[in-house]
Amino acid sequence: MHSFPPHLITGYSNFMAGRYEREEGRYKELASQGQKPTTMIIACCDSRSAPETIFDAGPGELFVMRNVANLVPTYQPDSAQHGTSAAIEFAVKALSIENIVIMGHGRCGGIRAALDPSAGPLDEGDFIGKWMAMLGPVSARVSDNKLMTASERQTALERISIRNSIGNLRTFPYVHEP
Ligand SMILES: [Zn+2]
Repeated sequence: MHSFPPHLITGYSNFMAGRYEREEGRYKELASQGQKPTTMIIACCDSRSAPETIFDAGPGELFVMRNVANLVPTYQPDSAQHGTSAAIEFAVKALSIENIVIMGHGRCGGIRAALDPSAGPLDEGDFIGKWMAMLGPVSARVSDNKLMTASERQTALERISIRNSIGNLRTFPYVHEP
């Protein structure tokens, strides 16, 4: 059995003795007055695309939702459990968030799986294939394009997927254009 990486334990201690200590006032203010972030970021779970790091954001600044391949589903008020939609609902209705950013990234494993399930992160799985099927016809259009190389198809779908998610975001009745 692998042990938990010791440097992460050290990192937590460093955070508590360093940044937390320096910004204690801010953390306490956020605890007593609640969070009031103005921007929601929808990003991929990928360990290389951490929104707080990329935007150099402090505590309370970003309301972050991460899922496989930073996808937004359409508004579906049915009996299924929708984690991403729950986060969007909370951000818009409870926090009155002003901006929603869908943050894609290069070399996304989820997008690779959408283009070619056999080249994805799993040969077979219970959830990734169904989750990525949300891109459906959009990914079929790109994967059938023989004029592009594999890496061009990947980049194209990473970008098209963001536009698709923006369109899906607009199906939520309480999400409005600026
Ligand atoms: Zn990704």
